[in-house]
Amino acid sequence: MVKLVVTFLGTSAAAPTADRGLPAVAVKREGEVVLMDCGEGVQRRVLSESLGLGSDMSILITHLHGDHVTGLLGLLQTMSLAQRRKPLNVVGPEKLLKWLEVTAELLHIGLTFPIQFSVTKPGVVLRTGGFRIRAARAAHSVEAFSYLVEELGRPGIFYPERAKSLGVPEGKLWSRLQKGKSIRLGGKRVDPLQVTGPPRPGRKIGYSGDTRPSAKLARFFSGCDLLIFDSTFRDSDREKAVERKHSTSLEAAELAKTAKARQLVLTHFSARYTSVSSLVREARRAFPHTIAASDGLSIEVPYTE
Ligand SMILES: [Zn+2]
Ligand SMILES: [Zn+2]
Repeated sequence: MVKLVVTFLGTSAAAPTADRGLPAVAVKREGEVVLMDCGEGVQRRVLSESLGLGSDMSILITHLHGDHVTGLLGLLQTMSLAQRRKPLNVVGPEKLLKWLEVTAELLHIGLTFPIQFSVTKPGVVLRTGGFRIRAARAAHSVEAFSYLVEELGRPGIFYPERAKSLGVPEGKLWSRLQKGKSIRLGGKRVDPLQVTGPPRPGRKIGYSGDTRPSAKLARFFSGCDLLIFDSTFRDSDREKAVERKHSTSLEAAELAKTAKARQLVLTHFSARYTSVSSLVREARRAFPHTIAASDGLSIEVPYTE
């Protein structure tokens, strides 16, 4: 089974605390990394979690608020010092590229690698070796997006007896069929669907960024294996959440329930809470499969079937 691991690099909102850094979440699968948001100090977490400065990486930025973006420049600079050559995918609001270009020029940062920049728009924003990434509009105080990281589908279950009955010898040809590729045997084509079940869906990870909950986002995150959601406030502070365009932990849980997510991880906690256990408790009343993110927490996402 291919491992799909989500690691929280920073879990605080707006300002860091002694225990929580600014927002950043990494998704790792077979050497490929998708990094969502780049709070200040993210580069140290990239190193401590061994994500690799030269790795096959795509960076998704939800919106242009300093706590989600200011770590990007330092990360790019350190990648250059490490002589990265591989192109880097960066996806974010249009003005992100302008900020990067202007600041890199002013600070004399010469990048050693190309940035493949995509402007975030609702719909599919990026396809990589292992993932398809979609965006939807979030409801925040500035233009903001939520992302859905979908693992590309897996071939169906392989049935060896079917391969044997078609005369396919065990070995390389089986392996090709198992990977969903067709083969030629004695002038005849054997299609993977002749020896496997129907293709199985990949795993889905949702990341809200900063947002109010909405019916649209509940639909966007429908069936997520892991949903990571804005939980800046406790429900007794809902007025502040409404005013500042964030969510409470209970609102995050209600949305996870509507979306039929399998697991909810609360993150982006206001620095006002020294403990987030009450936020988790109130969320679990609506959605029991809820945990709180903490810096350095890694979660392996299992297949549904
Ligand atoms: Zn924020
Ligand atoms: Zn924000």
